[in-house]
Amino acid sequence: MKDRYDVIIAGAGVAGLNCALHVPVDKSVLIICKGTPDKSDSYLAQGGICRLKDENDFESYYADTMRAGHGENNPAAVECMIRNSPAVIDGLIELGVDFARDKDGSLAYTREGGHSENRICYHEDCTGKEITAKLMQKVSALKNVEIAPETVMLDIICADNECFGIVALQKSTGGVKKIFSDYTVLATGGIGGVFEKSTNFRILTGDGVAICLKHGVAVDHVNYVQIHPTTLYSEKDGRSFLISESVRGEGALLLDKDFNRFTDELQPRDVVTAEILKQMKKDGTAYVWLDMRPVPEEELKTHFPAIVARCAEEGYDVFRECVPVVPAQHYFMGGIRSDLQGRTTMPRLYAVGETCCNGVHGANRLASNSLLESLLFAKRAAEDIKESYCNADRATALRAAERLDMNEYQNADAILQKYKNDIIRAIKEAENVKSRN
Ligand SMILES: Cc1cc2nc3c(=O)[nH]c(=O)nc-3n(C[C@H](O)[C@H](O)[C@H](O)COP(=O)(O)OP(=O)(O)OC[C@H]3O[C@@H](n4cnc5c(N)ncnc54)[C@H](O)[C@@H]3O)c2cc1C
Repeated sequence: MKDRYDVIIAGAGVAGLNCALHVPVDKSVLIICKGTPDKSDSYLAQGGICRLKDENDFESYYADTMRAGHGENNPAAVECMIRNSPAVIDGLIELGVDFARDKDGSLAYTREGGHSENRICYHEDCTGKEITAKLMQKVSALKNVEIAPETVMLDIICADNECFGIVALQKSTGGVKKIFSDYTVLATGGIGGVFEKSTNFRILTGDGVAICLKHGVAVDHVNYVQIHPTTLYSEKDGRSFLISESVRGEGALLLDKDFNRFTDELQPRDVVTAEILKQMKKDGTAYVWLDMRPVPEEELKTHFPAIVARCAEEGYDVFRECVPVVPAQHYFMGGIRSDLQGRTTMPRLYAVGETCCNGVHGANRLASNSLLESLLFAKRAAEDIKESYCNADRATALRAAERLDMNEYQNADAILQKYKNDIIRAIKEAENVKSRN
């Protein structure tokens, strides 16, 4: 790793990778990630990615997104995302992403909760892996991009509300290094790692958000946390296994302890989650049942092979019996305040993907809008960097770096724990403010 790059991107999920892909090739780029490159939530996405099918669907897609978000969405951001969705999908197809097709060769669309139409493109039940692996292949081949796995951003280098790079720990050596850049992009994903039960990778603990809180970079709605209604109930520790909403979109039913239906399975996530929790309380159970048998056997095998296999590993034959499901933390709608170009309130610092809050999702994300949002706004951030490129003042950057006390970073575990605590505290404070209003 060098001491200086034109652009540093913290995070190697779809947001970080797509940003790198669109930075001009004459600019040097460093991408770092906390674990191995495949340990991003982008790899886990099952259900798919939304696309505006045709102009006739605009009003309905827009209304579904706003309704799921309780009308707290930023209308301009929502419109921008929906209008650009065909171009995002076309770009992925150009990269070689293989989406499911109908018999006539046109894109096949599935459906999830909160959608009034089938408008979700998918690749079996591992759409995220298909997209992220293809992006990673493309980015790895770029000569101007260096990828540093197992490298943890511990802080940013900044002075007078301007960002000049990052402080990073290289896990392999234990060394902590200042790395300068003209632009820094935070693409550090969600915050599931601060919750006991989450579908997210445990290493995703909102470090980008905590670093922004530390330096007074604006952060919005930290308490807007989405709970997914259906994760496989297990008494084992570790990441909760998601059972995609598109299984319900294809006909799976939610049943109470006596195997009776108790809700409409295709309402937005927060509504279904509330219904399940209410039912669990009423029944005195730790889970409800998900019955996948209404989904045709062939559809289960071809569309959801990973879910079928994982349930089998846990001892459930989805073709013959119900599986126990329980809600768990899933997605972070709040985050680092960013505009439609990914700019934060600190010049030279951008935030894209799940770590940012540009208002697309409002108070609750509509299913399959987040890969789309991450990809689109990451590309827009790269384009903004290109259009407004201006070298950072080296003397000011050096002065900012000199002010850092490097001893402070020697105990990285303690810093990361502190960041987790800061996130938990910020969520509680925001909840308190909400309950007072
Ligand atoms: C199980 C599951 C299923 C999902 N299904 C869907 C779906 O079907 N459709 C959909 O649209 N969305 C889905 N989502 C949500 C979607 O996958 C994520 O919102 C999206 O992938 C986020 O992308 P990202 O690039 O912002 O973050 P991520 O892909 O999570 O990447 C974050 C990156 O940041 C790095 N990082 C974090 N902290 C640091 C640090 N301190 N230093 C260095 N690097 C750091 C990580 O190592 C990682 O590389 C799903 C999520 C989960 C968990």
